[in-house]
Amino acid sequence: MEEVKAKMNSKYYLAWAKDEGIRKKGANGGFVTATLVSALENDFIDVALVVRKKSVYEGIPVLTSDAEVVKECAGSLHGAPINLTKYVVEHAAKKRIGLPTKPCDARGIIEQAKRRQVSLENVFMIGLNCGATLHPLRMREIASYYALDPDSVVREEIKEGKIFLVSEEEGEEKEKWMKIDELEAKGYGRRDACKSCITKIPTMADLACGIWGSNDEKKTFVEVCSEKGGAIFENAVDSGYVEIEEAPEKGIETRQKKEAGMQKRAASWKEKMDEVSGLSRSERFEFYVDALKNCIHCGACKAVCPVCACEEDAKCLEMNDERDSYAISMYNVLRIFHLMDSCIHCGQCEDVCPVDIPLTLIQRRFSERMQHRLRYTPGMDVMEKPPLYETELRWSAKAE
Ligand SMILES: Cc1cc2nc3c(=O)[nH]c(=O)nc-3n(C[C@H](O)[C@H](O)[C@H](O)COP(=O)(O)OP(=O)(O)OC[C@H]3O[C@@H](n4cnc5c(N)ncnc54)[C@H](O)[C@@H]3O)c2cc1C
Ligand code: SF4
Ligand code: SF4
Ligand code: SF4
Repeated sequence: MEEVKAKMNSKYYLAWAKDEGIRKKGANGGFVTATLVSALENDFIDVALVVRKKSVYEGIPVLTSDAEVVKECAGSLHGAPINLTKYVVEHAAKKRIGLPTKPCDARGIIEQAKRRQVSLENVFMIGLNCGATLHPLRMREIASYYALDPDSVVREEIKEGKIFLVSEEEGEEKEKWMKIDELEAKGYGRRDACKSCITKIPTMADLACGIWGSNDEKKTFVEVCSEKGGAIFENAVDSGYVEIEEAPEKGIETRQKKEAGMQKRAASWKEKMDEVSGLSRSERFEFYVDALKNCIHCGACKAVCPVCACEEDAKCLEMNDERDSYAISMYNVLRIFHLMDSCIHCGQCEDVCPVDIPLTLIQRRFSERMQHRLRYTPGMDVMEKPPLYETELRWSAKAE
């Protein structure tokens, strides 16, 4: 034990599960799974929230106190573009919870904590670096483009800038891959929100884990980002669930370079995908009207939005009267205004919109400039109050 303690004076580690089964099933050595299992078994957390694979096109969030279920859910699912924030708010209000968080999950949870919907003291965010998720339908299109039957694809992987798909037909496995850049040049690939996402390493979480900077695909590179992160990490090491070594200097550099490269690509995608900036004022107006007039007021974009904490008496719903004959409904106008300081550009709203409104672009167009002007980046620091936090009184009254 003394030897392990002596090793734990760094911020950066390579870490992996001691248990061979977890190490094999885990995306990069099972550190995240082993840490959640040790936290459950040592009563560090009450429940874990993990994602269970249903198929390569579907991952289901599972809230569990059963370590065996956590083990079954090891691995990375790129075709499950879910955000876990609302599950934490809904199901774990009074429980200590540990969960893997992509940067957009962690940012959503932090914004909800600012709105007093969740107490961060009870939440252990084991951050995952994130290059992208893919919309399941887009993943199926890639399968067809690879000349595979989408229904026979059994495995997917994103590695070294390539998307790999493996199909199984009549007992025979076929593997196909292509570089993401080439696929995207042909119109296939990641979600628009992911192409333009610049938050790649979740240092706002308690730990930040990923393959970048690791010299072995069965060892996770781990950054300890908070005291809570240090505690859950130490618990996993001390109780013998994970093994660690200090990360080499070169690995730290490589990881930074990978992130910088991804951020540069994201900036260029953002420019390419912005079909509004080249338009005149009246053309822009027309673009917004044309897109938003198709809204059928299903409310799905509000329900999934990880930073929206309003309930049924939300002003976007209360003030919207469908008998009004404006081309754009008050619902959409109010949502745009309300999220100007807090939208994290995660694209969840667009994913669920049944009439395919380009909501990521629209929300980004309005919120990005405002956030820049307010010098505020949502979801990064729980101590930073949203500048347009006008409902403080109502939430304070409700807070325990
Ligand atoms: C969508 C995605 C993209 C990623 N992109 C990168 C990248 O570009 N660069 C990089 O360095 N690392 C990336 N990672 C992280 C990497 O794949 C591993 O998760 C990380 O190295 C930890 O490995 P592990 O073996 O310790 O995790 P594991 O022990 O395998 O645990 C992973 C945990 O993540 C959960 N999970 C699986 N899919 C999702 C999902 N879609 N959303 C939320 N939780 C999920 C699983 O249920 C499991 O609990 C990505 C991960 C995901 C999920
Ligand atoms: S928006 Fe960013 S963090 Fe979220 S899934 Fe996409 S790339 Fe990952
Ligand atoms: S408005 Fe859309 S992009 Fe912005 S935080 Fe909500 S779901 Fe994400
Ligand atoms: S998801 Fe689309 S159709 Fe439904 S309310 Fe939102 S913008 Fe309108």
